[in-house]
Amino acid sequence: MLKTFTKLITIQLTVWLLASQIALAETFVTIGTGGVTGVYYPAGSGICKLVNQDLDTHNIRCAIESTQGSVYNLEQLVSGGLDLAIAQSDVLYHTYQRPDPTQIKDGSQSLRTLFAIYPEPFTVVARADSGIDTFEDLKGKRVNIGNPGSGQRNTMEVIMRAYGWTIGDFSLISELNSAEQSKALCDNKVDAMIFTVGHPSRSIKEATTSCQTRIVSVTGPIIDQLVMKSRYYQLATIPGGMYDNNPDDIATFGVGALFVTTTRLPNDTVYGIVRSLFDNFEQFNTLHPAFSKLQIKQMIDTNLPAPLHEGAKKYYADMGLM
Ligand code: GLU
Repeated sequence: MLKTFTKLITIQLTVWLLASQIALAETFVTIGTGGVTGVYYPAGSGICKLVNQDLDTHNIRCAIESTQGSVYNLEQLVSGGLDLAIAQSDVLYHTYQRPDPTQIKDGSQSLRTLFAIYPEPFTVVARADSGIDTFEDLKGKRVNIGNPGSGQRNTMEVIMRAYGWTIGDFSLISELNSAEQSKALCDNKVDAMIFTVGHPSRSIKEATTSCQTRIVSVTGPIIDQLVMKSRYYQLATIPGGMYDNNPDDIATFGVGALFVTTTRLPNDTVYGIVRSLFDNFEQFNTLHPAFSKLQIKQMIDTNLPAPLHEGAKKYYADMGLM
């Protein structure tokens, strides 16, 4: 009898011990971002800051990784190398809606959105002495078309196809990443650089303050057609006065930066992450000038290329946001 009783107590204690260890176990998540002078990097870092300051409420610990950009991020999400990432809406659309069997294979259907963050205008910066005044003027020039794996490279290839251009139409192309290209522009290694990025960004600041450059508009019938045909492109403006020597608004088109994960991430983890962000949203607004005017309703009320994650949906429902 006593033996059975002792046995029961021991079992009970073991169960308690295991339960408390499970309760203490932390969930570790990594967010894939972009180059350090872009806006994905501070956006990821801001989200992690808010998640980590709530650690004792959900036991989720968050870290960021600097990456090549959207295309790489989605590949890593699908293959399990990243838990969360920021990616362009057009790149997510092409990956989720029309999976190309030769590129991102099985698993693309597991991609899920948490929310949209901010708009990313397609931004072209040219040297003032390059003779480039419009996007069409890039033909025959030395252009950094973006590193493989980046969102800007992906979008640039779409525009080049629309214009009927190939890389042979430039006198030189380079594939520098977003953190390297402003220096190459100011060192006169290229005439123009492109970046699909939120504003203001450190990269465009570097390119407009370290040497004489101008932001070039990207407009015309071909761009209008692209915008009209696709759900994920919109006409966009880069506000005048945001960067040195660029006093006027610049017309271009743009995409959205989305916060993305997969169905692998459990509902309560996703719930905890969105709760940490939206419960502390005013703090998020102060973390970078590109986030200062963001509004919760717009971030979740968008036409998303991949479905909302169930954990995020539950939080929005609990908060009466949808
Ligand atoms: N839109 C870029 C990309 O997808 C990254 C922008 C950023 O780093 O802020 O590669």
